[in-house]
Amino acid sequence: MSRVVVVGCGGVAQVAVAKCCQLDDVFTELCIASRTISKCVALKEKLQPTTKTKITTRKIDANNFDEVVALFDEYKPEIVIHCGMPYHNLVIMDACIKCKVHYIDTAAYEPENVLDPEWRKVYDKRVKDKGFHAYFDYDSFQWGYDKKFREAGIIGLLGCGFDPGVTQAYVAYAAKHEFDTIDTIDILDCNGGDHGYKFATNFNPEINLREVSAPAAYYEDGKWHTLPAMSVKREYNFDGVGKKDMYLLHHEEIESIAKNFPDVKRIRFYMTFGQSYLDHMRCLEDVGMLSTTPINYEGKEIVPIQFLKALLPDPASLGERTVGKTNIGCIFTGKKDGKEKKYYIYNMCDHQESYLEVGSQAVSYTTGVPAMCGALMILKGLWNEKGVHNVEEYNPDPFIEALDKYGLPKSESYDPVMVD
Ligand code: NDP
Repeated sequence: MSRVVVVGCGGVAQVAVAKCCQLDDVFTELCIASRTISKCVALKEKLQPTTKTKITTRKIDANNFDEVVALFDEYKPEIVIHCGMPYHNLVIMDACIKCKVHYIDTAAYEPENVLDPEWRKVYDKRVKDKGFHAYFDYDSFQWGYDKKFREAGIIGLLGCGFDPGVTQAYVAYAAKHEFDTIDTIDILDCNGGDHGYKFATNFNPEINLREVSAPAAYYEDGKWHTLPAMSVKREYNFDGVGKKDMYLLHHEEIESIAKNFPDVKRIRFYMTFGQSYLDHMRCLEDVGMLSTTPINYEGKEIVPIQFLKALLPDPASLGERTVGKTNIGCIFTGKKDGKEKKYYIYNMCDHQESYLEVGSQAVSYTTGVPAMCGALMILKGLWNEKGVHNVEEYNPDPFIEALDKYGLPKSESYDPVMVD
């Protein structure tokens, strides 16, 4: 018996809900709570005939603390899987503390308004102290909730998608089973899918475009190193996909891996992008369409990136037309029993297979499945350390077993091609 709230009803949430409904002996009651109630109702109508999970729906503004608390008070969930926007992480975490509800999200907090002077002070200090420029970080906000979560006797599981998420479980798994010491970690995120559009993003466009237009950063010898966005390019031959160009990016799991595995000398993150995507992104950036600063147009305030989002295809609608695979994983170097060793652990996920199973493309699938598996770990008591934690802090074995079983099996190589 469990009661779960899923916040959001976009690409990722639709997969998380569908996967929970496949495990209806564990997820017995589920409330889909999001901004546009018609999407929640449509998802309920699609899934209810296929599952014993009792699905309900609720219109909610996740930015409104009182509304979230009222939902938790009435529905009394054990856990909330937050698959909405990272802007709302802190509001939902506050409500979790008040109502003693476990919390899971898939992206680190960042504010909607990056000009907010209070947030800006914290951001400017972090950029100065640490030297990476992304709008998100764990240390300034979400990690600070640890004490309150422990006192409330609840778990806050941060970043439980694929990356962040599974990539950190892969780090914990490598540290536990494959290495005595890890020297370097390269996280490689390849989307070899083709949706046929000249330009579209595979997850929320605002978050996606903010992420890829920020300066790149990696961690080496205890320090952050920052480089201009998209300035480091490598080609890699991905299993199941083939050769792709990939670019060094900052990504949130670097920060938590660096904290939880302080002996690792270097951590980098690469993501693949096609030339058409990059050309469009540069052009949109040059003309100001990626700006989050409101402008006044004919008497109405418009945020350029939100207007762009309204023009772009909804990521949740890409499933039917996307073909190809994703391949996401981590390459490690280090030592085992005194000998140098290389190890690559990754997952390949097919866009069309994901679509046939749950009606979504693989980027949503690879995020929604781990979110469900994280909830499963907590509900089954397999992950029970209270407080705010990143995925790599828990035992990776049952989680990776669940991923293997529920749609994201691992592949391994002991002689991978290294990234120079
Ligand atoms: P979508 O834009 O498809 O979905 C976001 C959902 O949140 C929508 O249903 C939206 O409602 C809802 N929402 C927005 N504002 C509010 C609000 N104020 N109150 C209630 N609901 C709201 O995004 P995705 O599903 O693609 O991404 C979801 C999250 O997953 C993002 O944070 C993204 O960064 C993260 N992600 C993580 C990955 C990982 O591997 N860790 C990979 C990919 C994504 P409406 O339907 O009205 O628009």
